[in-house]
Amino acid sequence: MKTTLFAMTLTMMSFATNAQKANINNLPSQHSNSTNTTTATHFTAKPISEAVFKRMQGKSYKANCTIPRTELRYIRVLHYGFDGKVKSGELICHQDIADDLIEIFQELYKAHYPIERIQLIDDYNADDEQSMLHNNTSCFNYRRVAGSKTLSYHSQGKAIDINPLYNPCVKRLRNGSTSVSPKTGRAYSNRSKTFKYKIDHNDLVYKLFKKHGFTWGGDWKSLKDYQHFEKK
Ligand SMILES: [Zn+2]
Repeated sequence: MKTTLFAMTLTMMSFATNAQKANINNLPSQHSNSTNTTTATHFTAKPISEAVFKRMQGKSYKANCTIPRTELRYIRVLHYGFDGKVKSGELICHQDIADDLIEIFQELYKAHYPIERIQLIDDYNADDEQSMLHNNTSCFNYRRVAGSKTLSYHSQGKAIDINPLYNPCVKRLRNGSTSVSPKTGRAYSNRSKTFKYKIDHNDLVYKLFKKHGFTWGGDWKSLKDYQHFEKK
């Protein structure tokens, strides 16, 4: 329904932070040839500032978080949205994979690879299902693996989910049925189908993460997490 879509659009717009709005005004021209200048200015990894740490409190950075703030990095990148326009993205990751992410996102940007949005999961109250429903690409979130007591690699900031709606997490249940996260990603759970934004072994996202030593959740056996890459 149009009214619903309009309301959703307004909600999404309200998620944009002041920093993002300011940054969007400074985006480079899409026809610019100055890739080197662009990468130097717009792809950065910095320590977690007071302002960013405040946004994370009680959300992705919970009271019992065992990962020191000093080990985390705040990443800014550029990416192409589904509308083909250049957008500004922000991520929090572990310092050990900060250089990998900067290099990977630079390559994706050069290739015009479409990623719908890259916002801190704190903008979704650190609710993974909500972030996935909005097809948000995200990294650090101190949480357990859904339905288990194990801490996820996202808890260390060493796992990232890319275009999660089109690359859902699919779990085969004992009764033969499947559970899909996010719920609205069920249409994309059949990977033999051809559709846009699908990550598979031929996809650039897979190739770049593989090259940088990451494991892909789509290669797992018990469950298939097509959005997920992690580095041990
Ligand atoms: Zn994940």
